[in-house]
Amino acid sequence: MDGPTLEAMGAALRGPVLTPDDPGYDQARSVYNAMVDKRPAALVRCADAADVMAAVDFVRSNGLDLAVLGGGHSAAGLGLLDDGVTIDLSPLRGVRVDPAARTAQVAGGCTLREVDHATHAFGLGVPTGVMSTTGIGGLALGGGHGHLTRRYGLTVDSLLSADVVLADGSFVTADEEHDSDLFWALRGGGGNFGVVTSFTFRLHPVDTVGVGLTLWPVERTREVLQWYRNALPQAPEEASGFFAVLTVPPGPPFPGEIHLTKAAGVVWCHTEGAEALDSLLDASGMPADPSFRFVAPMPYPMLQGMFDELIPRGLQWYWRGDFFDRISDEAAEVHARFGAAMPTMLSTMHLYPVDGAAHRVAPDATAWSYRDAVWSGIIGGVDPDQANAAAIKKWCVDYWQELHPHSMGGSYVNFIGQEEPADRVRATYRGHYARLAEVKRRYDPDNVFHANQNIEPAS
Ligand code: FAD
Repeated sequence: MDGPTLEAMGAALRGPVLTPDDPGYDQARSVYNAMVDKRPAALVRCADAADVMAAVDFVRSNGLDLAVLGGGHSAAGLGLLDDGVTIDLSPLRGVRVDPAARTAQVAGGCTLREVDHATHAFGLGVPTGVMSTTGIGGLALGGGHGHLTRRYGLTVDSLLSADVVLADGSFVTADEEHDSDLFWALRGGGGNFGVVTSFTFRLHPVDTVGVGLTLWPVERTREVLQWYRNALPQAPEEASGFFAVLTVPPGPPFPGEIHLTKAAGVVWCHTEGAEALDSLLDASGMPADPSFRFVAPMPYPMLQGMFDELIPRGLQWYWRGDFFDRISDEAAEVHARFGAAMPTMLSTMHLYPVDGAAHRVAPDATAWSYRDAVWSGIIGGVDPDQANAAAIKKWCVDYWQELHPHSMGGSYVNFIGQEEPADRVRATYRGHYARLAEVKRRYDPDNVFHANQNIEPAS
């Protein structure tokens, strides 16, 4: 972009425009995954919805390339484009809770931490993801699952309305009655349809929860999965537990003898508290002699921040996902093999439950296309050292290739990683793809919003 173009864009905005010559540029373009190293021509730090409208209008009418940056957690670095203009929503951070109506208005650049902090003061919460540093924007538009999904559904199941800047720079508030097709598409269709400057969510009671971790040596992965695959779906919806293969971190609360050993286990959350979780585990028939069993009461935001220090911004990430409706003995065997071969301490595989309340929403009520899935799986090769990038990538891809035949065929859109086969977006949306492409044609016929897991406009 030349100087006069930049000046013209800057004149229309309240927030600053950062270019490669500005001191804050490198900080602004650094995202969660350190494998991503993209250099936009300019980052527009939008101060309000008016800035977003002006920026979209300017970018489109000058034929420039556009990306939208929320919390920056996308593994593929979708919030940035080399040489393009990035609309950076990070200044949009407000949350307004209406405790009487049990709703919250959440600005489009918030992280989960800000949402949880604001709502927890009222003993309320939105079901979102399991890490507080994730952006609400990308997470909610992809669907959003976490500890409260079995109890209260996906994040999109609590979405009441969204303020959206469309591809022509205009502004709408979409809900069940207004721009209802757009509202349908926003609930799972990702960032394809516009820039959401504010979300309004229904809130649910959640306060101090029971948090648990049960671990066994990784050699017992098959046995643990054979128990977990039945125990989890039968557990009350107040409880959730995601399965993981992991390396035990070298510090408290873990006893020294299991530090840095590989393990298979479950991270639990029970909205009725620690005693309810303890009783559930006692009655669950879980494998004997876990190497670690921990149950404690915890304020919900503390649970949400539990992994923040362990996996901070700036690590190398290579990931792939798939949905599962069952865990066969053959799949358990794959988990056992690749769990034992994890290449680095932070590499991991998680199976997040997406049943319970999420199953009670009609399959065509939102763009989320896997209401019949029980787990959303993610394999993450993770390490601070760039020298291990090839090793974490190879482990992740090999694991995924062996596990994929035991999956439902598609993955959660927010778990599509780098260098994935071209058909992955269609596999994510299954029978909803054609309707999404039609909504895309109506709202973004020129595919202005293409820096995402892209749905091409219907022709
Ligand atoms: P960004 O990289 O900023 O954006 C991702 C995409 O969303 C881009 O296409 C961007 O253009 C678009 N976008 C973002 N905000 C907006 C907006 N306001 N309007 C329009 N488009 C927008 N997901 C879960 O559901 N549950 C989890 O528990 C979970 N855990 C995670 C843990 C880690 C460590 C990581 C890295 C990711 C996790 N995710 C989880 C995946 C997460 O939902 C996605 O990475 C999501 O894209 C993050 O959103 P973001 O705004 O931070 O990302």
